Amino acid sequence: MTQEKKIKRIYNALTKLLGEGRVIKDSDILEQYASDETSDLKSLPNLLVRAASVTDVSNTLKICNKYRFPVIPRGAGTGVTGGAVPVRGGLVLSLELMNSIIEIDQDNMIAVVEPCVITGNLQKAVQEYGLMYPPDPASLDICSIGGNVAEGAGGPRAVKYGTTKDYVLGLEYVLPDGSIVTSGGKYVKDSTGYHTIGILIGSEGTLAVITKIYLKLIPAPETTIDLLIPFKSIDEAIDTVSRILRNRIIPSTIEFMEEGAINIVSDYLQEEVPFPNARAHLLIQIDGNSDDEVHYIIDRLIKTVDVPHDRIIIAETVKQRERIWKARRSIRESIQHRSTVFLAEDSVVPRSKIPSFLKDLKAKLNSMNLTSIIFGHAGDGNVHINILKGDMDNDKWNTLVPRLKEIIYGLAISHGGTITGEHGIGFTRKNYLKLAMTEEEIDLLKRIKSAFDPNHILNPDKIF
Ligand SMILES: Cc1cc2nc3c(=O)[nH]c(=O)nc-3n(C[C@H](O)[C@H](O)[C@H](O)COP(=O)(O)OP(=O)(O)OC[C@H]3O[C@@H](n4cnc5c(N)ncnc54)[C@H](O)[C@@H]3O)c2cc1C
Repeated sequence: MTQEKKIKRIYNALTKLLGEGRVIKDSDILEQYASDETSDLKSLPNLLVRAASVTDVSNTLKICNKYRFPVIPRGAGTGVTGGAVPVRGGLVLSLELMNSIIEIDQDNMIAVVEPCVITGNLQKAVQEYGLMYPPDPASLDICSIGGNVAEGAGGPRAVKYGTTKDYVLGLEYVLPDGSIVTSGGKYVKDSTGYHTIGILIGSEGTLAVITKIYLKLIPAPETTIDLLIPFKSIDEAIDTVSRILRNRIIPSTIEFMEEGAINIVSDYLQEEVPFPNARAHLLIQIDGNSDDEVHYIIDRLIKTVDVPHDRIIIAETVKQRERIWKARRSIRESIQHRSTVFLAEDSVVPRSKIPSFLKDLKAKLNSMNLTSIIFGHAGDGNVHINILKGDMDNDKWNTLVPRLKEIIYGLAISHGGTITGEHGIGFTRKNYLKLAMTEEEIDLLKRIKSAFDPNHILNPDKIF
């Protein structure tokens, strides 16, 4: 059967099952689903389904499986490694209409949500009950919980609270043959059989489509205070992080920005960020159950940090706190504004290795005359490395990117780390998985893929 005929049959079958408006072939609309937030990557799907229920998802998968047609699950499309991009066409299965918070169970401190609930909306909703959903990717106002689960997303609070994987208690998901499965549920402990949930977290839409998520909540801390501390060097900043943690102070975030990041944000926002001449900033958040507890921790922290007290900004009100987080949250936009094409990597190393990793990396990038902007999560060793294309010739850039990836990943691995801490492998990193995993491990992953998806219809060309 020709591809055209196949697409027509799939369109007709799905329209019959799901209804007219759910299945789309209008190219203007398809265009909106051709990319995510990955720099310089675009490819049109042949069809789009906007699923409104688990039944819609199941029917879509059944039909596509029958025709061996690629299905690309999509949450909010904020991924940065091309996970939701239909790189070889196929059907984009958008979960955008499945965006309800089904239940906030206060007694069990569990939220049950549909996959496309925006992470920040869930955080605000549970706050009303004095509860907290801690994972906080910087994209929390635009990304979905389903996408967070599929990517194993993290955020600044990982140092104290962990990442998405630490909060998923149960999943409902649909296998490529259309069968609907639930693993786990409203219970905290579970040693029943294989930990399927763990396999699905970070599976990047290649194993199943997640349609319902049970999330652990915790009591919200009553007081939160942020501190912004300037340093004369990255080394000093990172040494301070080790000292803070050795002193048994566990902040909820310890973010660092090197001077390139501070300067680019200042230029973009057209306003002077605090301590513009510092070589590095640490942005530290302390939370706890009372003002007294938090101030006691801050006193200990200030004694640990070798910076004069009057050089530390302590932000207690929401307005003050927003001001110092504005710079951190504006880095990606600032980079995009300076250079629409850029390489964004999120390697992770043991946190004690950040200074030597960055020193070696910076030396290499400087020797190649490249502009790099580096920031990240000092508390958990996850470093965001951005290299700007600027006005470099396209051919030169395209030849350079694979070389740069090899340099960055090679250095991360030689410092005891790995190639990605939170953004996943997706499409843009699939050729480099072999740097971080042995052949045996990759083979095991491939066998897991075949067990879930024997016809390889789900998100082909991703991860492997
Ligand atoms: C400005 C900015 C800041 C960011 N900051 C962070 C950060 O701090 N930490 C971090 O971890 N990430 C960050 N990201 C990356 C991105 O937001 C995350 O990867 C997020 O988890 C993606 O969610 P999404 O809903 O947009 O997923 P999408 O981009 O739609 O999809 C991502 C992947 O998940 C799969 N998928 C989505 N939904 C489902 C589902 N229901 N079932 C099965 N598979 C599914 C897709 O197939 C794809 O492979 C940032 C991105 C931007 C643009």
